[in-house]
Amino acid sequence: MTISGIKGFNDILPGEVEKWQHIEKVARRVFELYGFSEIRVPILEKTELFARSIGDATDIVEKEMYSFVDKGDNRVTMRPEGTAGVMRAFIEHKLHAIDPVTKLYYMGPMFRYERPQKGRYRQFHQIGAEVTGVTNPLVDAQVLTMLCHFFAELGLSEPRLEINSLGCPDCRAAYRGVLREFLHSKMDELCDDCRRRVETNPLRALDCKSSGCKAATSNAPSVLEHLDKGCAEHFAATRHFLEVAGTPYSINHRMVRGLDYYTRTTFELVTGMLGAQSAVAAGGRYDGLVSDLGGPNIPGIGFAMGVERVALLLAEQDFKRSPDLFIAALGEPARDQAFRLMSSLQRIGVSVETDYEGKSLKSQMRRSDKFNARFTLIIGEEELAIGRGFLKSMSAGTQEETPFTVEEIYLKVKGVDENKTC
Ligand SMILES: [Zn+2]
Ligand SMILES: [Zn+2]
Repeated sequence: MTISGIKGFNDILPGEVEKWQHIEKVARRVFELYGFSEIRVPILEKTELFARSIGDATDIVEKEMYSFVDKGDNRVTMRPEGTAGVMRAFIEHKLHAIDPVTKLYYMGPMFRYERPQKGRYRQFHQIGAEVTGVTNPLVDAQVLTMLCHFFAELGLSEPRLEINSLGCPDCRAAYRGVLREFLHSKMDELCDDCRRRVETNPLRALDCKSSGCKAATSNAPSVLEHLDKGCAEHFAATRHFLEVAGTPYSINHRMVRGLDYYTRTTFELVTGMLGAQSAVAAGGRYDGLVSDLGGPNIPGIGFAMGVERVALLLAEQDFKRSPDLFIAALGEPARDQAFRLMSSLQRIGVSVETDYEGKSLKSQMRRSDKFNARFTLIIGEEELAIGRGFLKSMSAGTQEETPFTVEEIYLKVKGVDENKTC
């Protein structure tokens, strides 16, 4: 009997993992251009951290968390999202004392016990970023600009940016009342979940997937018409700075996020490329979160993107790596020479593959083809005797005689590469 993996927990295999590495590399490069540093926080946190930050009445905390009691009787949870842990670390290590403005990014697995379906996994991966310490909407616009820059850098024209404002706790409380009253008049049309949530979390009815709720809320009052002066100005200035930065966006006043801690600016990057219109990245401002978690009164804004979904957007592109050089050796003495060259070339940055089994030349050449090596070097008895062999360019189909010296081979293999990129 073999043991299989757990449902909803995936392996990312060679062939696919190169795409993930590319996404992570682009994220690091782009985020660091904007002054962000990486932070790595644990997967396991105290359950109360998520209950307090994400909100007791959210789907995540109500039914999707991987929570258990450990051997020391502590209630712990495998993180369902990244922001809470990052903010816990931010407070615990007093990062605000080092610099009042902190820009952090993270990447890694998250866990939610959801019904497994296409594109939804119980272990999924997110890349996210957080800025703390700035209320000025300039930073809202910069975070959004960076996120759009990341997708542009991946060569994607989608997803598109949609923004909204959920206001501060004051204007949101007022809006919640207005919306609750509206929903009371539509109770018959709402799904069970939404009917139950009218009192605790009426905003969720606006992004409920059920068609009845969609129809019932089609002319629900807009949150943007219920912002107080401060929140309305913040939203207008965010839009202004997005325009200054040249970052295109549209407004979606029905957008509410599934997490309670969002205030003011919320946003999603949406695409129709994955079937139904859906978000690949989302986030918002959370001005009350740090103090809710027992930290100082410091504002914050951030986002997270689903790496599985970003990888699907890159489905057409091939990121598989191929070696610079394949060395085919015939006979024991030639294998020594091949292994010597291979080891020396690898040490100075040339990727080299070979055949480990001493098979026939034909079979070694097949292996070189399979690797899609850029160059092949054949070392047989004759070549070994004269100390020279032929370096074959697999793409050009040409070959060039070369002595078996590391320098010569390096120049020929890497020199061509450099000319190409010039
Ligand atoms: Zn407000
Ligand atoms: Zn509903």
